[in-house]
Amino acid sequence: MTRQAIVAANWKMNGGLTLIDEMVSGLKDVKLNHNVDVVVCPSSPYLMAFALTAKNEGLSENFHLGAQNVSEHEKGAYTGEISTNMLQEVSAEYVILGHSERRSLYKETSTLVAHKVKAALAGGLKPILCIGESESERTTGQTEVVLAAQLQPVIDEIGIEKFNEVVVAYEPVWAIGTGKTASPAMAQETHQFIRQFLANADVEVAKRVPLLYGGSVNAANCEELFAQADIDGGLIGGASLKVDEFKVICSAA
Ligand code: PEP
Repeated sequence: MTRQAIVAANWKMNGGLTLIDEMVSGLKDVKLNHNVDVVVCPSSPYLMAFALTAKNEGLSENFHLGAQNVSEHEKGAYTGEISTNMLQEVSAEYVILGHSERRSLYKETSTLVAHKVKAALAGGLKPILCIGESESERTTGQTEVVLAAQLQPVIDEIGIEKFNEVVVAYEPVWAIGTGKTASPAMAQETHQFIRQFLANADVEVAKRVPLLYGGSVNAANCEELFAQADIDGGLIGGASLKVDEFKVICSAA
């Protein structure tokens, strides 16, 4: 079956107005394959600027905007937090949730991530749910247990049917920002496990969920990774800050 392919850019706490201008004008002439969407996730203060620049420059409807986090609460006394409504008002359509940096640096548990996924869906945003094992978890053979423990609370919270609106990004923690990429075969094997895990809850839904690979994807390794049967695109960190390299990655999906 043909699944939606997605290349998502996670700018993390990088970039600003200059990069937005450069990226939008660079992406205007990128050649995307059929069925590929690109989601750019700048820091929240820049979402509106990206949306306006993209509109003024006439970026095609294959380009979407995403945020890097959202509150699990609808509104209220949560200083420093950003709600789903606020993200929607500034044209965000996606939100990255459960990124390993949020899990490790900001102590986001899988239960909290599940609540955020629920809030995002209720607020009309598509979650890009990140899961992944650490290096020691992989070397001690715990990868599948860890991934299952990250996925199950979300399935329990929203129900498997709602995964029709969820994108899952498999990001081995040891590959994020390290230059160490999972081999295409290793990434495929893990993606296959994730799809099978979802299929245990619902076979048809599992077939449709886009599974992205993230972790040191670059212009040189993207093609082989994206060619794997269960890899439907990528979540790109460092390489998404370089316009020419990001364009190569978008075209490879
Ligand atoms: C990320 O942070 O989501 C990521 C995949 O980063 P990088 O591509 O730099 O490894």
